[in-house]
Amino acid sequence: MAYRKFKADQLFDGHHLHGNDKVLITDDSGKVQSLVPVSEAGEDVQTFSGILSPGLINCHCHLELSHLKNVIPPHTGLIGFLCSVVTKREFPREVIDQEIINAEKEMYDNGIVAVGDIGNTADTAEVKSKSKIRWQNFVEVLSFTDEKANENIEHYKQVANTLKQKLQTSNLKHRTSLVPHAPYSISPKTFKLINELTKGQIISIHNQEHPAEDILYKTGGGDYLKLFKIFGIDQSPFPVTGLSSIRSVLPHFNNGQTIFLIHNTFMPEEDVVFAKEYANAHGLKLIWCLCINANLYIENKVPPVEMLMTHDCPIVLGTDSYSSNWQLSITKEMQSLKNKFPSLSIETILQWATINGAEALQWDKELGSFEKGKRPGIVLIDSKFESSKKML
Ligand SMILES: [Zn+2]
Repeated sequence: MAYRKFKADQLFDGHHLHGNDKVLITDDSGKVQSLVPVSEAGEDVQTFSGILSPGLINCHCHLELSHLKNVIPPHTGLIGFLCSVVTKREFPREVIDQEIINAEKEMYDNGIVAVGDIGNTADTAEVKSKSKIRWQNFVEVLSFTDEKANENIEHYKQVANTLKQKLQTSNLKHRTSLVPHAPYSISPKTFKLINELTKGQIISIHNQEHPAEDILYKTGGGDYLKLFKIFGIDQSPFPVTGLSSIRSVLPHFNNGQTIFLIHNTFMPEEDVVFAKEYANAHGLKLIWCLCINANLYIENKVPPVEMLMTHDCPIVLGTDSYSSNWQLSITKEMQSLKNKFPSLSIETILQWATINGAEALQWDKELGSFEKGKRPGIVLIDSKFESSKKML
């Protein structure tokens, strides 16, 4: 068998950052054989400048929105942004399809090996069926009222079935689940149906991305009413609970799910404590997904990184979509985290981008670290986190 041997200025194994004294040995397909000291590696070691890392995991993306690249300007604020996204969906089919192709290739080339990908449609099915990236499809339900809950769920089940059927032909083990979009777009009955349909599955929900989300549940008012108007809804269709949004909606779940909480930009500490306690008491697993470039793009705001770390929240990274990012690169997400939080160690940020994402998506048997028998992909990241490149 032919072996490949790699070393670089630094080698990150998924857990720890090593210097240039370790060599990664794989077979031709990239299956990890061992990680050995230079003195034991023998000949033909390829040497690179930068950091060698296992393949990167993008836990939150919307591949189907790739045609919105450069369409919505930065810093509109979330409500203006959402109104733009829902009203700017009429694009020619060829443009939508081509931008999905381009974005998938961009992610593969920059070292992303698995994606948690949100979709309201099955527009991405064709590209995913031929992709070398692993896809956890989050078929995202939008369903504002209880009256329409059954009808809406039936519609999104069809979308999920289309994706599942199309992706069957792939030899990668993709997955598909139904997920709620956000607390401000899902009625109580719809939440109940999603909870029943997702026993033991991995799901996600956009969480506390704007202060208006809490105001909506606390008072029934606030800026989200502007979004509802676009859908012809004049008042909040949701119960006024007097509580924050996460306290109002997390109790809809009790079916053994792993739930990715996306963004958490305006999540106060007391709600983190609440969410962890609720999850522990009801058999849920919570994952905190940060998409810092999207937060900077939309609101010019950063998520409460230190506070989440204080509470030992499992953290993973996402790019969100081209409607709210300059690129789809986990490396650039790491760069922004390092810039905004200089005290964070590179090792910690790399863990979020690799092993934490693989564990959250339950693909850590194959991905996320350089351990014998895994085929996690090999990525070369330049030391300033400007760019990255898939090596194998
Ligand atoms: Zn999103």
